[in-house]
Amino acid sequence: MVEYNKFGASAAARRVSDVTTEDLDLTDKEHCILCFNDMKYFALGKCNHKNVCHTCILRLRFIMKDMKCPICKTVSEEVLIAESESLNYEQFQKGEFKKKLLTDNEDAKIYYENAKVKAAGEYLRQLQCLVYKCNPSHQFSSQEALKSHLERDHQKTFCKICLKGRLVFIKEQRLYNINFLRAHIDHGDPGNEKQAEILPHPWCDFCEEYFFNDQQFYDHLSRQHLTCHLCPPNQYKNVYYSSYPSLENHFSKSHHLCPYENCKLKCYVAFRTSDELGAHVDIEHKASVRV
Ligand SMILES: [Zn+2]
Ligand SMILES: [Zn+2]
Ligand SMILES: [Zn+2]
Ligand SMILES: [Zn+2]
Ligand SMILES: [Zn+2]
Ligand SMILES: [Zn+2]
Ligand SMILES: [Zn+2]
Repeated sequence: MVEYNKFGASAAARRVSDVTTEDLDLTDKEHCILCFNDMKYFALGKCNHKNVCHTCILRLRFIMKDMKCPICKTVSEEVLIAESESLNYEQFQKGEFKKKLLTDNEDAKIYYENAKVKAAGEYLRQLQCLVYKCNPSHQFSSQEALKSHLERDHQKTFCKICLKGRLVFIKEQRLYNINFLRAHIDHGDPGNEKQAEILPHPWCDFCEEYFFNDQQFYDHLSRQHLTCHLCPPNQYKNVYYSSYPSLENHFSKSHHLCPYENCKLKCYVAFRTSDELGAHVDIEHKASVRV
């Protein structure tokens, strides 16, 4: 049994799920509503919202597999990345206009207004060295090749937990000096005006594994581990058991576990009081004997 209750506040970065239409300034077309960066190219879907930048929309599509507009949640199969502010979805869908557009090499449902915009869209997925001025024209063939270059030539590395759990392009992942990676894992990274804070990575004692953030950790706990339905929820909300045998052990120590073999096989047949167990035994296990 392990109690997990020392969770910090969630990261300062605005998550897509936190955005509600009421607190957004949709008249500001100069900044992306999700990342607050200057809007170079915007994404255009069915709903005609033009408040999300190409980086954010492509991150949603490629990394999170999310086709919804982050503002109104309208699903758009096709999306246009554009720079001309006067464009709208109806124009984009016109046969003649659409024919002239370029599509993404990986996803033919992503259209680009012109070659410059397409280059910006594809750049996000290219594997260049992340160290400033290090051979910017060279593209690595794989993430592994990029990693070995970073370790060998710069003594820098990615955090494996962030790579798995922080849903951004490789280009947006952070680099750590090999000697400071441990400090990042244990203490997280402070935020600044450019980067959101990263909290210390939560650790599952049962699986001996780190998770990127509280949300992913709680998902894991609720899917892989168990809680007791008999303990008062306000007091034991964050108490988890690795698997059923350890929860059963807890039932027999702290509650009233039905000792009959067929109930043990069913699992979870345990009661708060000995009276409740007595009533259960009378109905389930004694009745057939009496008949
Ligand atoms: Zn953005
Ligand atoms: Zn929308
Ligand atoms: Zn390099
Ligand atoms: Zn990390
Ligand atoms: Zn676990
Ligand atoms: Zn309990
Ligand atoms: Zn029973």
